[in-house]
Parts: sequence; C-alpha cells; structure tokens
Amino acid sequence: MAERILILGAGHAGGVTAITLRELGFSGSILVVGDETHPPYERPSLSKDYLSGEAADPVWLAPAERWAELDVTLKLGAEAVAIDRDRGEVRLADGSVEAFDTLVLAMGGRVRRLPLPDHPAVRYLRTADDARAIAAEAKPGARALVVGGGVIGLEAASTLRGLGLTATVIEAGERLLGRNVPAEAAEWLAAAHARIGVDVRLGRSLQVLEDAADGAVLARLDDGSTVEADLIVVGIGIIPSTEIAEAAGLPVAGGVLVGDDYRSPADDRIFAVGDLAARVRDGAAARMETWAHAQTSARAAALAILGRPAEAEPTPWFWTAQCDHNLQILGDPTAGDAVVARGEAVRLYLRDGALVGAVCLDQPRDFATARRLMGKTLIAETASDPATDLRKAVAT
Ligand code: ADP
Repeated sequence: MAERILILGAGHAGGVTAITLRELGFSGSILVVGDETHPPYERPSLSKDYLSGEAADPVWLAPAERWAELDVTLKLGAEAVAIDRDRGEVRLADGSVEAFDTLVLAMGGRVRRLPLPDHPAVRYLRTADDARAIAAEAKPGARALVVGGGVIGLEAASTLRGLGLTATVIEAGERLLGRNVPAEAAEWLAAAHARIGVDVRLGRSLQVLEDAADGAVLARLDDGSTVEADLIVVGIGIIPSTEIAEAAGLPVAGGVLVGDDYRSPADDRIFAVGDLAARVRDGAAARMETWAHAQTSARAAALAILGRPAEAEPTPWFWTAQCDHNLQILGDPTAGDAVVARGEAVRLYLRDGALVGAVCLDQPRDFATARRLMGKTLIAETASDPATDLRKAVAT
C-alpha cells in the first residue's frame, strides 16, 4: 500500500484526487504541488461570473481550512521539473525533491499562444489570475477583440458584452465551437451572439497587431480587414503539459497515456487525471477537457490507487453558458447515424436507433432524462415531440 502520494497539479482534478483519497480512508501522506499560488479551484466561472466580477472568488474546491483538516499538504507556487522514476522522486524548480510511492499527474495544460510576437494588449484566459487581469481592463465602452470561437472565447465575449464592452470574435474555422459542439447547436449560439451584438468573423485569423492611437491596437486580419481594440482576449485551446512525463519515458499520445483506471501502462505507480490524461476510446487516445472529466477521472484514479473496484462511469457531458443560454452536451453526438429534432432546442443523436448523444439549449429536464436513457433504443417519432415526456420514447 502506498504511503506517500504525490500529486502534481493543484487544479480541479489534482484537488479532487486528494480529497477523494482521504474520503476513501487513505491515511498516508498526500502532497499536492501546484504552480499557481491559489488553492485548488474549479475553472468554469473564470470565463463567466468570476470574469464579470459578480463572483469575488473562483469556486474553491474546498474552504481553505479544509485542506489542513484533511491533512493534505499544498505546496503552491511550486513547479515540478523532472520525474525520476528509478528513485521515486520528483524534482521541483526550486531544487527541492519530493519522494513518492504513487504519483498522480494532474498538471493539465497551458494556453496555446498566438503565432505572433507578444503584444501588451493580448491576454490569455486559463487561470484565476488571467481572469482577474482581463477584468481589470474590461472597462465599459472599451472594445474587446476575442480570438478563438470555442467555449472559452465565446463565454468571454458574452461576459465582456455584459460588462458593456463591444466584442468582435475571430475564429479561424468555418464555424464556431468546431471542436466539441455539433454544427446545429453551434448555430443556436451564433444566433444568440448576433442578438447581443457580438461581431463574429469566421474563417479569419490575425495577421499582425499594430499600435493605434490612445493605447489601442489595430488588428489586421488575413483578408486585409482591420479591427481596432483596447483589449485582446485569446482562447485558442490548451497544450497539455506532457513534457516531464515524456522525459521520464512515460508513453504520451496527445496527453499522458493511461488505461481505463487512469494508470500509466508503463509504470503502475503513476496515474494521470483531468485534462492531461489520454485514454483510449474507440481505438484512439483522447483527452477530455471538461469539469465532469476532472471529477470522474480523479475519483477513478483514487479508487485504483487504493485497490478498490472501479465504479460505473457516467456518460461524458459538459455545458457552456453564454448570452443567457445554457447549452448542455451529452455523450458523443458525432457517433450518431441519425439525429432527432425534438423541438427547437433539443437534438438527440442515435446510432442503430440507440441514444448516443444529445444537445439541449436551456432544457435541463430533457438533458437529465437523456442522461438516464443513454444507450436505450428510442422511437424517433415519439422522441421528436417536445410535449411528450422523453421517457415515453423508449422502445419496449
Ligand atoms: P477553448 O477550450 O480554449 O475554447 P477550443 O479548442 O474549444 O478551445 O476552441 C478554440 C478555437 O480557436 C477553435 O475553434 C479554433 O478553431 C480556434 N483557433 C485556433 N487558433 C486560432 C487562431 N490563430 N485564430 C483564430 N481562431 C483560432
């Protein structure tokens, strides 16, 4: 049985791993090392009410005193730079060394940066400090240019609009939310942005940033058009922090490769959770950058570390809140071979008649039902009537 568990990364997944280990009765030492100076927090509010200033704090995973009560040691503002698997040690940037019996990699990723020289008006959004830095510059009447029409960029654009800024979004792809939201649901949100006056430019990228009058910036796009902005917020995805795992000889495939129990196939003392973990699904290694995956992967790893049986895994899901709408995405809509429109705001994705995914715009009840019906065969005609309880669509 492991006595010393070392968790690298004090984010959502790292924090939940530590808490769950204690809740499951682990009594050895738990050290969580994180490069941010804050104790573990959840990220969703960073582009929403924490960015707007409505929430004074990020959503802490636990009140500050809880970590001491749990006897979990947080070493914050500290960066791990090397894993020595032979010695069972991790070296930190300050030269100190921490020993482990079990090592959990929960470093997540860092922001992908623009392929342009740094400019002082450019802000990235990943951490609580990033959100605070953007909020400090988000003055009503200011002009925001948001780069990236994914979840982060669009939530930021919506929040900044709510603060009284103008917002232009430039997205390199031909549509919004191309990574993880079906096209039709992305259209719903595109329409919502148009309604609140966000200027969305698809198929565009930034060519160069030039200084303009009064500290403003003139952004030149690839089609020769220009956008003047006071603040540029970039949300173009993350790069998983795989370097120290790779240098230690652990298999990496987009993220740190793990089995179903989040354990490295190369070292049974080492686990990866959260955004950093790449699991094989349908024959390909894939990461999941969601709040729900931070939770479930951390819990699954904690169980495996303690030699407990695995629990049934919930269907993956995530949500995005923007322009006063809440879009929930369930399962894998891309796996469907048929789509059922259930009114204006719900789409159900079926494969061989069975439910494999759903998107719901402001329809929490249908979403909750769809979660329970995953894998069940649905009668499309019944399911397509929003006035009929979705449960009645299950084929008997
Ligand atoms: P995030 O979670 O940060 O929102 P996503 O990968 O979901 O990340 O979305 C990032 C979006 O940014 C994608 O839609 C991608 O096409 C877009 N993108 C990537 N690079 C650029 C770029 N240089 N300019 C504009 N858009 C970009």
